[in-house]
Amino acid sequence: MTLKLGKGHREAILGHGARDYPSECCGLLLGKVEGDEKHVAEVVPLKNLRHEASLAQELLPVDNPGRETEKNRFLIDPLEQLRVEKDARARGLDVVGYYHSHPDHPARPSNYDREHAWLRYSYVIISVERGSPKDLTSWVLAEDRSAFAPEQIERAD
Ligand SMILES: [Zn+2]
Repeated sequence: MTLKLGKGHREAILGHGARDYPSECCGLLLGKVEGDEKHVAEVVPLKNLRHEASLAQELLPVDNPGRETEKNRFLIDPLEQLRVEKDARARGLDVVGYYHSHPDHPARPSNYDREHAWLRYSYVIISVERGSPKDLTSWVLAEDRSAFAPEQIERAD
């Protein structure tokens, strides 16, 4: 699969990462799968529910809440995601992927990212170094969930 990402969408993701630094940002990629290409039509920023530590801990507990915070974990609000998905479907769009940022860490998926990923979707990760967005990469989970493989990104415009 190739992820087709417009310049504006790329800038929207990088901008969100810079804005939310030093916390992790997250969001959805809406679009269409055509053949072996995923075309991104919209980038939807979501709030990182890890900012609300007690609610987040109820929804998806972390092993070490003192160390695993919004600065190195993200959690999408399931209700917000449902709302966005429903609205997208009404406009003929699907969720084709997710994005999140790694503040002061490389744009590579962590073990935590792999354990919480689903098959088929693109996982875009951006690195934000001292507040400035740097690299943007995309990853797809292997069928046996053992690893993420890098996904090719092409400019769509
Ligand atoms: Zn991550």
